[in-house]
Amino acid sequence: MGQKTWILIAGISLVTVYVVFVAVMRWGDTTPPELTLKTAFDVVGPETPLSIHIEDHETGLQSLSIRIEQNRESFTLTDQHFSSHGFLTPDGGDVKTFDFDITPFAGEDIPRRRGPASLIITVKDYSWRGFFEGNFHRLTHQFSVKFTPPRLEVLSSHDPIPQGGSGIVFYRVSSDATTHGIQIGGAYFPGYPHPYRDDRQFAFIAVPYNAKSTQPIQLVAEDGLGNTAIQTLDYRIRRQKWRSRQIRISDRFIQKTVMPVIARTPEIEDQGDPLKNFLAVNRTLRAQHQEQIMTFALMSQPEFFWEGPFVQLSNSQVEAGFADHRRYVYHRKVVDTQDHLGFDLAVTKRYPVEAANSGTVIFADYFGIYGNTVIIDHGYGLQSLYAHLSSMDVKEEEWVSKKQIIGHSGTTGLAAGDHLHFSLLLHGVQVNPKEWWDPQWIKTRIADRLGLLPPEERPMQQRQPVSSPQGPYFPPVHQRPPSDN
Ligand SMILES: [Zn+2]
Repeated sequence: MGQKTWILIAGISLVTVYVVFVAVMRWGDTTPPELTLKTAFDVVGPETPLSIHIEDHETGLQSLSIRIEQNRESFTLTDQHFSSHGFLTPDGGDVKTFDFDITPFAGEDIPRRRGPASLIITVKDYSWRGFFEGNFHRLTHQFSVKFTPPRLEVLSSHDPIPQGGSGIVFYRVSSDATTHGIQIGGAYFPGYPHPYRDDRQFAFIAVPYNAKSTQPIQLVAEDGLGNTAIQTLDYRIRRQKWRSRQIRISDRFIQKTVMPVIARTPEIEDQGDPLKNFLAVNRTLRAQHQEQIMTFALMSQPEFFWEGPFVQLSNSQVEAGFADHRRYVYHRKVVDTQDHLGFDLAVTKRYPVEAANSGTVIFADYFGIYGNTVIIDHGYGLQSLYAHLSSMDVKEEEWVSKKQIIGHSGTTGLAAGDHLHFSLLLHGVQVNPKEWWDPQWIKTRIADRLGLLPPEERPMQQRQPVSSPQGPYFPPVHQRPPSDN
């Protein structure tokens, strides 16, 4: 035999050895790909996601097919074939792990029908088992579909509510609802089970001072699967006329009042210009405070802490009313406009400030333009805010009773003279406190409608610690506003 023949035999032998090696590897892979459902896919609605994880660490993935079967009809969610980097490679396909995410019923592809259905997932690897077919893994998962929204029934009607006014809504919602409440434009008022009647829910609502009279007031319920029920209430909004005021801003005021706020607020830097400094505080910081106030709202407890009318600071004179439209004039030019969403009440310097009603202190600290501020939670989203205090005599988480002294009036924050700035908030929306100060309004519009019991007759409720999470409306963290004290 010649040299060429030897080379040929050697070559053939090497190829044979390699083919045998590949064959052993490919036949040796007897493990089908692993398949995991990462999301519960048991009760499925329009927004229920399907998330799948597949692994095959031997010969790799060859194909994936996902189908949904219902009433003997089959709908393909995906059919994928994965590449192999060569026929004669020992480890087969390129893909070892694969994640697939889809929201099957989000689009129009699969009809939304009642009744049970199955999810069928088939994966295959690059093994040569089963006459080169590969190892299969087929997963069949039964699920039920839900495409009906929660059922709603409105139980109450209401006289027209003025802009800035408050009200109450009673309704029934089916038990599949995971969240429900009242939507007025961008404002949302969560509903709660009625504390004394287990056949209904209720929600306090507040019409924002600037809501259009055509703004619908809607009851909204969601089931967490993407089904939403909406019902427009017959509640109407009455327009109000708010006052307009001009406020002159001097360099002296900026130096004396705005600069100390900047000095105590790390987020706001000295702009090096009096007007810019004024705007950074009056505009930017004010907007940040409103966001902070929304997070305080989430700490409200589902319990009635208050009783009877709220009280206005005794002997006080009203210096500014709710929703006064303020134009700020600096060097004879209007440089900013803001709406004053509270009452400015003045008596004498360092006058003792009383709690407007009973509740739990959820905030007692320096709060930018509001200066030293106390916020009391009265329950079910209702909170009162006391600003510009010279001293604070209560601590966070402390219980206060109606008319208890909580501090003294002052000029901290953005205040020209000694006064109390008082705001009343419903789920973070500023409301006109005049209604809540009115004994007749409290009785006929709120207490009688609720069947509100005197405190000693109210059923004991489990009180949550103020800063603990509770349901979807209660975030776990008590975020403090910028402060250096
Ligand atoms: Zn004020």
